[in-house]
Amino acid sequence: MAERTIPIADHRYRASVPAVPAVPQPPSGLLSDRLGRPLRDLRISVTDRCNFRCSYCMPKEIFDGTYRFLPHASLLSFEEITRLARVFVAHGVHKIRLTGGEPLLRKHLEQLIAMLAALRDVDGRPLDLTLTTNATLLARKAAALQAAGLQRVTVSLDALDDRVFRAMNDVDFPVAGVLEGIDEAMRVGLGPLKVNMVVKRGTNDHEIVPMARFFRERYEGRVILRFIEFMDVGTTNGWRMDHVLPSAQVLERLHAVFPLEPVEPNCSGETAERWRYRDGGGEIGLISSVTQAFCRDCNRARLSTEGKLYLCLFATRGHDLRALLRGGASDAQLAGAVGQVWAGRDDRYSELRSAGRAPTDGERRVEMHYIGG
Ligand code: SAM
Ligand code: SF4
Ligand code: SF4
Repeated sequence: MAERTIPIADHRYRASVPAVPAVPQPPSGLLSDRLGRPLRDLRISVTDRCNFRCSYCMPKEIFDGTYRFLPHASLLSFEEITRLARVFVAHGVHKIRLTGGEPLLRKHLEQLIAMLAALRDVDGRPLDLTLTTNATLLARKAAALQAAGLQRVTVSLDALDDRVFRAMNDVDFPVAGVLEGIDEAMRVGLGPLKVNMVVKRGTNDHEIVPMARFFRERYEGRVILRFIEFMDVGTTNGWRMDHVLPSAQVLERLHAVFPLEPVEPNCSGETAERWRYRDGGGEIGLISSVTQAFCRDCNRARLSTEGKLYLCLFATRGHDLRALLRGGASDAQLAGAVGQVWAGRDDRYSELRSAGRAPTDGERRVEMHYIGG
């Protein structure tokens, strides 16, 4: 028998193969975890590679020419992703976000979009299908993505000042390239579009008001700008609390220039707190993962590029669904295993961190580019 080579990269984080119940219960769409939270949102990382080196996510010193990204054979194929997605949808997921790394680097991504767009949720409705991107390839790909069934995109952009942005992406990519991607996405109908800005105190916080002004004026309220607190994800980004600008201060700075009022959340489990400009200039969002934990409503599961299920952004252990898939498990067995894993979930890292009780079990936390945002 030919020898099997198991790439080292597969073992970068701890994972175990979930148990398959002897008599799997068919999914009811009503799954809930130990804290009563349903499963509604699935984030799928389609690649661990990226053409940016944002210092808060993939710092160049670590993700350099010697870093071993996952070999192609480790990645889930589009068929495997779709099969797993179908299982999650049967358990109640109705929103799927593709992420990475940079998802648009995955070849023929529109084929995966078309496969996922054909799925229907437990009520027979099409899924809410979206993607987060740095937009470097968006101008080229937006039309094909939309034609394949993608509904919306979220674009990451941390500054309008070219010098600041080029330094933050650390590959000298210009703001103009991202704006081109946003324009094209808007043109082909991938809206309402959201723009995510990670705010790092002392690095780009002076860009808060200019970003708000720009998106209000250029897109007349059709783009929602969201400000994200710099998070302590993974272990490589040199996170420090004094680099976090609390959302309350972001709000204060914006409100002084463009008066704002709160908006009711769309649905439970929404990560962003919504505010709108009083003059009708549109909406913004505040994502306060550090200063205001929202674990209580967290209904998100994450599937890594190589098919490991993570129950929290700050998890140290994954559940290896690829091993089940490639080991010949049936759909009923996969659904039984996923249901059992979710039913046992009690993750609430941010809440515990806020209470000064963040687990410090010494295990390595997963990196953002590996499981996506
Ligand atoms: N490459 C794509 C992009 O940047 O849009 C998708 C993957 S990226 C990991 C997803 C989101 O996570 C981005 O909006 C990014 O800004 C955010 N992110 C990454 N590291 C972060 C950190 N340490 N704190 C807060 N947000 C972070
Ligand atoms: Fe790449 Fe996105 Fe991470 Fe930046 S935030 S390094 S664009 S994966
Ligand atoms: Fe969800 Fe974990 Fe974030 Fe809490 S810390 S909101 S459980 S991903």
